[in-house]
This record gives sequence, C-alpha cells and structure tokens, in this order.
Amino acid sequence: MTRQQYAQTLLRTYYGYNSFRSQQWDIINHTLDGGDSIVLMPTGGGKSLCFQLPGLMSKEGFAIVISPLLALMNDQIDALQQNGIPALALNSEKSEDENRQCVNLLMEGKVKLLYISPEKLLSEIDRWSDRITDRICLFAIDEAHCISQWGHDFRPEYTQLGTLKQRFPHIPVMALTATADRITRDDIAKQLNIPDAKLFISSFDRPNISLNVVQGSTGRQKLRHIVQFINLHHGESGIIYCLSRKSTEKMASELSRLGIEARAFHAGMSVKEKQQVQRDFLNDDLKVVCATIAFGMGIDKSNVRYVIHSNMPRNIESYYQEIGRAGRDGLPAEALLFYTYGDVITLQQFARQSGQVQVNMDKLQRMQQFAESGVCRRRILLNYFNERYDHDCHNCDVCNNPPERFDGTRFAQMALSAIMRTGEQATMFTVTDILRGWRKAEILEKGYDKLKTFGVGRELKVAEWNAYLLQMLQMGLFEVAYDEGNHLKITDYGKEILYGRQSVQFNRYQPRDFNVKTHLAEPQLITTEPVEAKQMDKALFERLRDVRKALATTSRVAPFMVFSDKSLQAMATEKPTTKAKFGFIHGVGEVKCQKYWRPFTAAIREHLGLP
Ligand code: ADP
Ligand code: ZN
Repeated sequence: MTRQQYAQTLLRTYYGYNSFRSQQWDIINHTLDGGDSIVLMPTGGGKSLCFQLPGLMSKEGFAIVISPLLALMNDQIDALQQNGIPALALNSEKSEDENRQCVNLLMEGKVKLLYISPEKLLSEIDRWSDRITDRICLFAIDEAHCISQWGHDFRPEYTQLGTLKQRFPHIPVMALTATADRITRDDIAKQLNIPDAKLFISSFDRPNISLNVVQGSTGRQKLRHIVQFINLHHGESGIIYCLSRKSTEKMASELSRLGIEARAFHAGMSVKEKQQVQRDFLNDDLKVVCATIAFGMGIDKSNVRYVIHSNMPRNIESYYQEIGRAGRDGLPAEALLFYTYGDVITLQQFARQSGQVQVNMDKLQRMQQFAESGVCRRRILLNYFNERYDHDCHNCDVCNNPPERFDGTRFAQMALSAIMRTGEQATMFTVTDILRGWRKAEILEKGYDKLKTFGVGRELKVAEWNAYLLQMLQMGLFEVAYDEGNHLKITDYGKEILYGRQSVQFNRYQPRDFNVKTHLAEPQLITTEPVEAKQMDKALFERLRDVRKALATTSRVAPFMVFSDKSLQAMATEKPTTKAKFGFIHGVGEVKCQKYWRPFTAAIREHLGLP
C-alpha cells in the first residue's frame, strides 16, 4: 500500500470521508517528508485534518497541536474521541494527577494527538524524557497569526515558540492560520525560525455562504427583518453579532419577547455564564446567540446556518472571519449584514481612539465600500484578499438582484437644499428629519420646521433617505466634517447638482422581501464534495435530527459531533437500512458506524414503514 492509499484508508476509517480536499494531501505529504509549512486556509477549510493525519499515521509517535483557546481544544478532543482517535489535552485546567497520567500515556505511545497551550508546552517539554520527545512527529501551531505583532490577534505567549525549531531541528513545524497578509505571513516564518517553510495557500472562497447586505434599516424595522429572517431559518443555529455588550442584551431580550429564544454573549459576563451559553449553543439547546466579537473565537460548530451582523464590522478581515463561522460543513449558509451610516460614525470613533488611526480608518472605509457597492460581493472580498476572482458569484444579493438605476437629481437637490438652508450645520440624521418633516424637539428648537425644504421629502421613507444620502456621500456630493460635529458640507460637485448644472444617478433602494425566499440561491455545495441528485426526505431529516439530539444528550457531546448536518442529509437521502449501507454514508467512520448504526437505521426503517 502506498503512503497515500494508507492515508486514504485512515480518512475513511476514522472520519468517514472519501477524499481529501484540495491541498490537504499535499500538506500532509510534505510533512511526512519532514518539511516545514505555513498553511493559509479559510475558516472551515479543513485545517485540522492536515495535522491530525500525520499524527495518526505515525507508528508510535504523536503530533503536538499548539492552540491558544481552551474551549476549542476540549471540543476538538471530544470530536476526535467520537471518531475513536486517541487524543489528549494538557493545559492549566488539568490537575497534577491528570498531567501525570497524560505523561504516562505519552511515554507508552498510546496517544496520537496532544493538544497543548503554548505556555504549558514550553514549561512541560523540558521535563519530558527522550522517550517522549523522540516520539514527537510534528509541531502544529494553530492560529499562527497570534505570533505576529502585525496580525490582528497578537499573543505574547506565542513568541517563545521560535525556540522549538532550534531545539528540535528535525521535527517538522506546521503553522496554520485563517488570516494572514503577506507581512504577517513572513513574520510567522521568521518568528518560528522556519525560513524554508513551504507555503500552502488555499482559495478563500466559501461558495456555500450566501452574502447579503441590507442598507439603511434601523430600529424596529431592522428588528422585524431579523425576526423574519430567523423564522425562515426555524430550528437552525445562528449567531447575531452586535456592536456593544448592551446591544447584545437588548437584541436577545427583544427577540425573546417576540418568541425567539435567544441569549446574549459578551466579555462582561462571568466565565460560568459564558460557558453555559456556549455549551447550550453547541448542544443545539439554544439556537440563537447575540454576541459581541468575543463569541465565536472558541466555537467550532459545523452546523451554524447563518451569521447576522446587526451592525457593520470594523474591517473586512473581521467580517470574513465572522461569517466564516457559518456553514463549515459545506452546506448552504447565509451571511446577512445590516448597514447604516450610523454604524460608520460609531466605528470611526473607535478607529480614532485606536492606536493605529490611519490604518483602522482605511480598513473601515474598505468595509463600508464593500457594504455599499453595486458589484458582486464575493468579487470584492476575494480581490481584497488578493485572490483573483473574475466572475459574478450568483450567490450574493447584488448578483441576485443587480441594482436598478434612476435619475436621482430631484431627490439630491432636495437634500442639498436642506443642507444649505441649515447653514451646513446639520448632521445626516437631522437632514433626514427635515426632509421627512419630523417635528421633534431638536428640529423645532433650531427653527428647522420653518425651512422651505421642511417635509418636502415625505414621499420617501426614512430608510430610502438613509440609503440615498449615503450614496450622495459616496459620490462626493457632500462631506462629513468630523471635526465639526459631523455636520454636512456641500462640495463643488454637489453645488453643480444643486444648481441643476449636472444630473445624478441613484441605485434604486430595494428593501428585501423576507416573506419570499427568492433571495436564496439554489443550494450550492462545494464542488469537490458533490451530493447525489436524489431528493432528501425532509421529514426523515427532522426525525434523524431528534435521534441525533437524544444520542448526543446521552453521550454528553454536542449533536454535530455525533454527526454533521451533512451526514444527516445524506442519510435522509440515501435512507440506509443496513449496517453495511450505513457505513458508506458521508462522515460515518468505523467507530461511529459501530456505535450508531442501530438507532439511525431503526428510525429510517420505521419512517419507511419497514419491519
Ligand atoms: P478549519 O479548522 O480550517 O476551520 P475544520 O478542520 O474544522 O476547518 O474543518 C471544517 C469541516 O470540514 C469539518 O466539519 C471537517 O470535518 C470537514 N472536513 C475537513 N476535511 C474534509 C474532507 N476531506 N472531506 C469532508 N469533510 C471534511
Ligand atoms: Zn455575487
């Protein structure tokens, strides 16, 4: 048997997968040849297999996996054990006793993968005898961008990892990350002392995630959108990202009030509370989490079906990482971003208070341009990550609904005239209020209700004005004076339009209709893993989901660790009724087949009315 055939046998036996994804085998093979590597793959791309297989393939050795996040570590160990792979974790949470036990197992060669935090590794490795260190077949460094000051998540405890290569020059090092620009990437190689590391860059495309942006929706309207959206995804898991701790709590309580069970998650909560939310979410006991960016770092749940950004993220890197938490199983998933100019103002304030003002402002602007653009969203994203993508994706809101243009000159003149008449002393919000003729205290106080333009724009809704004012800003009809209370100042170009010397085109504002599912593209799967054209039995799928949940509860693991949604769909399509057939289902390895074939095939037989 060749090396590759052996690897493929293990892939089928332990994981129940039929083939490697692109690059996975090359990376594993390079490691088995003793080479160092830097692996750039998007979230959900399949990094774990790259370091797990070398560990599994090594006769008496094991791979060390360095990971900064305890929660993630424990999840991975659980998942590996479910597949019958001997894996252990060493970290500060373990007792001395557990540590000793772990060391004994390592000595006996009974472990294939050891997950460990960087600080623990550096303190432990000195105490290990040659009997252990001789067995190490790989140092895999997960979240490797943490080693670089240029990355977006620098962790000082990572910087000492460079000594590993000096002390064990013959053991291959694999650095893995889902975000790294060229500077960070070079820095990783330098810090880890692996100048000759081979670089493996996968495509960052996640074609199964549908990208959608809703502009100008605020307050109750936004809430209504979110509620309708969640109802369309009834029974599925999703994350709603909010800008502040307070807003996560507000969102969770409003949703709960409207009958959608949701909970908040943010850094201000106690460790216990946070763990509870994470656990319930992983176990499918809680479907909706309203979170600050603190959530998700340690979440490795494969069946998150949607990610909603209630507000715009601060840069494209964060956005891409956050939406990447959806659809890791390769099944259709949705990203929904709400975007208003108010978000931009808030984020600009954050950026101005940050250490690197210019950089952060520029990144924010790129994000804003993305949200506003009439160009295919995936094209913008992938080009941002320096990946050439020269066609429309047909799985984003722009592709599904290319913008319609119309002559917006009359509306632009109304707005510009209102700005002019306030003596250029009004913010974008005030201008909307004037145009809509809202007699609120601030307007009356300043006498804006006496302006000729007061109420002239009633024919447009607030959301429409928000959208068009934004387009005007982008097209350079006016500027925002940040140093003057965000007042609007008309540019020379804006005056051309105000005085009728030029006309201007607007992209027509289009609210999304959430009652029809037209915006959802036909389910698309990653092309390397085609699914049979046979029809899935939805009722059976629901039934199998219940079976999975019950089994997960008894074995105290998360449902997606029993089987992924993708495996359940395969079962609901193939309807295997025997152990042999069950063993061929995607994601069913030997251990899981043995453990689970009875309850699942029984449910299928019953569903089909078979004895
Ligand atoms: P990452 O760590 O890069 O975010 P994971 O390693 O968690 O991604 O993999 C994402 C999902 O893809 C997991 O559910 C994993 O089991 C699955 N997966 C990985 N490799 C394959 C493969 N070759 N065939 C089928 N599924 C795979
Ligand atoms: Zn597109």
